[in-house]
Amino acid sequence: MVGRGEEVTCGKISIYFWGVSATRPFAEREPPCAIVASCSSIILLDVGEGCQKALEHFNLGFNKRMVVLISHLHGDHYLGLPPLLHTLSLSGRSEGLMIIGPPYLHRALQTYDLRHDFPLVFAEVWGVQGVLDLRWWAGFTISYVAAPHAPLSYSYVIRYPDIPHLDSSKLDEAGIPREARRSLVEHGYVVVDGREFRLKDFLRSIDPGPVIAYSGDTLPNAAFIARSKGADVMIHEATFSELEEKAKTAPHSSPVDAAEAALKARAKLLVLTHFSTRYRDLEKLVDEARRIFPRTIYAFKGLVVQLTTKTPRTIFLRKFEEV
Ligand SMILES: [Zn+2]
Ligand SMILES: [Zn+2]
Repeated sequence: MVGRGEEVTCGKISIYFWGVSATRPFAEREPPCAIVASCSSIILLDVGEGCQKALEHFNLGFNKRMVVLISHLHGDHYLGLPPLLHTLSLSGRSEGLMIIGPPYLHRALQTYDLRHDFPLVFAEVWGVQGVLDLRWWAGFTISYVAAPHAPLSYSYVIRYPDIPHLDSSKLDEAGIPREARRSLVEHGYVVVDGREFRLKDFLRSIDPGPVIAYSGDTLPNAAFIARSKGADVMIHEATFSELEEKAKTAPHSSPVDAAEAALKARAKLLVLTHFSTRYRDLEKLVDEARRIFPRTIYAFKGLVVQLTTKTPRTIFLRKFEEV
């Protein structure tokens, strides 16, 4: 169990689930909101109403370097942004915040009084797909892929950098001092006494960086699957049961669609989310997916998925408990 006061530690990525409902709050379910936390930054995956409560609930604080990813401009996915900014301002935030979302996101928020005393950057993505390299600022890259849902909808794939392990005997042999080794890893080369050394000549092994794929709202999408190849965690919407007539007409995915996406992408874990208010019992939905992709769970308020950055990757599932 995870309790209050647990720090986000390096060497682990934690995904905190808060809002898992489609369209509107329903019973215990909040509108879409999940948080990916590493030791360098946190990422909000959509910001439904009340999403800022998750930061407090999971004890993540209000002043961490933060990137917000908005999948599309349906109200359940972005209307929590103005209150989030308000709460962050009232908390005395000073750290920067970057909001990434579809075209017209900034314009959609113009009518709100977005007061803030901290650096705020809006980055609107355009086109069919692309990559934003935020390694310099937040420690990861983000791929975005247009999603077949509403116009200007996007899915996102977060990639943390690979972790190289160096051969220390080779480094000693070459006379590369300890203080220069960090620079070798960060830049791929280092110059010592006028001689240039390349990282590739000193590699013992590489741990591939964690990959987290987030579908947002979408119909099945081959481009998203292609971008998600090898994802450690795929968070995929599963709004309607495959048995539902509406699953055939609405621009959403069923648990079966999500499972097929995870299978094709060779994901390690599939987390279903964005459930229609017509379902109280989510076990039936998850069973539909497990017939195709057994490593499927459903998201709920308080679920924490933790993965190690080292390989072999270890993934822990926990329920957050207040203490
Ligand atoms: Zn939605
Ligand atoms: Zn939508």
